[in-house]
Amino acid sequence: MGEIPKIAILGGGVGGLVAASELNYRLGTKAEITLFDRSSHHIYQPAFLHLAFGERKLDSIKRPLDLLNRQGINFLKGEIFRIDPENLLINAEHGDFEFDYMIIALGAELDTSGLDGFEDNALNLYSADGAQSINQALSDFSGGKIAIVVSSMPYKCPAAPYEMAFLLDYHLRNKKIRERTEIVIATPEPQPMPVAGEKVGQAVADMLSKLEIEYLPNQKIKSLGQYVSLADKKFKADLIIGVPPHRCPDVAKDADLTSKNGWIEVEGQGMATKFDNVYAIGDCTVITLPNGKALPKAGVFAKSQAQILAFNLAHQITKSSAAQKKFDGQGGCFLEVGHKKAAYAKGNFYHEPDPLINLKAPSRIYYYFKMLYEKYWLKAWI
Ligand SMILES: Cc1cc2nc3c(=O)[nH]c(=O)nc-3n(C[C@H](O)[C@H](O)[C@H](O)COP(=O)(O)OP(=O)(O)OC[C@H]3O[C@@H](n4cnc5c(N)ncnc54)[C@H](O)[C@@H]3O)c2cc1C
Repeated sequence: MGEIPKIAILGGGVGGLVAASELNYRLGTKAEITLFDRSSHHIYQPAFLHLAFGERKLDSIKRPLDLLNRQGINFLKGEIFRIDPENLLINAEHGDFEFDYMIIALGAELDTSGLDGFEDNALNLYSADGAQSINQALSDFSGGKIAIVVSSMPYKCPAAPYEMAFLLDYHLRNKKIRERTEIVIATPEPQPMPVAGEKVGQAVADMLSKLEIEYLPNQKIKSLGQYVSLADKKFKADLIIGVPPHRCPDVAKDADLTSKNGWIEVEGQGMATKFDNVYAIGDCTVITLPNGKALPKAGVFAKSQAQILAFNLAHQITKSSAAQKKFDGQGGCFLEVGHKKAAYAKGNFYHEPDPLINLKAPSRIYYYFKMLYEKYWLKAWI
């Protein structure tokens, strides 16, 4: 290690951005921090829902990552081709780099070719382009059947397809075409937000049923086309809004970072991988909970993991005697339900034997907190 340690941050999404900013704040010139991302912008993904309903423009929910350079963080835009975690080497569009520490925050890759017919027939709720196409399709829509399809598990933000259904119901009521439209959700999940427990799932299922949104859990999605084909039935849909299959980025798999389940297994309190000085945070990781299920993929966890890791790494680098912090599985997320209301699910995902999650009923207050959080996010971190 040279005199000034070099830290690589792979990915400028939620986890990478927070890790870079916190490390920079804590270490300043005591470390050289480089963040790599193929994208020139950080995009606030929860706002894809609002993009889909024309309530946001893409420009208002993204920030240029090169603003980081002004703060003293080197931002390198470009593809990361190869990672050598054993020797802390990265091969990227700009060349080869050697580091002392690596934080992998590459998120989950959207594998749109992983479900037959997804690319040609589904509007992708999980990409900015897809959300904009949903907006276009909804403005031309005058009635029929809309299917929201979760291709496979795991997928990030397990609340998002349900929020989409509630917001769709609200949108169609405002357009006065709800009575001419059927909404159906087909998913392989046994219940909404399964890791949050039966009570939360039942509460969300009850909300769907009250709004006459048909719910088809436990489905194997076979293909999408004119028909949504499930294992034992198929139905015709005029619009398909899809959550694509997710997978860990190939660059992590090729580096032997992933375990049998296909994601990067980390120690669940300090985010260490099996390689020395290589850490991973956020959606590219898997943390197995005491009940055997996996911690959901969500920005709220990517953020707190990044903050804890940055704190610990900064203290390790400065040889401070401060006690190491531990990621404790606490987190919460808003569930927007239309009518300018949101519910809020919050709790301890590390609770034994099962996560202990409480769902607060929909209210205006949580909706405004959700809107405020977006503003905070786009100002605070970049
Ligand atoms: C519609 C929607 C709603 C959501 N709502 C919520 C919510 O309400 N609450 C919540 O907590 N979470 C929510 N999420 C989930 C949240 O956005 C993600 O969990 C979070 O972004 C994960 O952060 P991350 O840093 O792990 O990955 P990301 O934020 O996905 O960042 C990964 C980064 O790595 C880069 N990258 C990947 N591979 C390479 C490569 N080979 N070379 C260069 N760069 C690469 C990507 O360009 C990307 O910028 C939502 C997501 C969606 C889609």
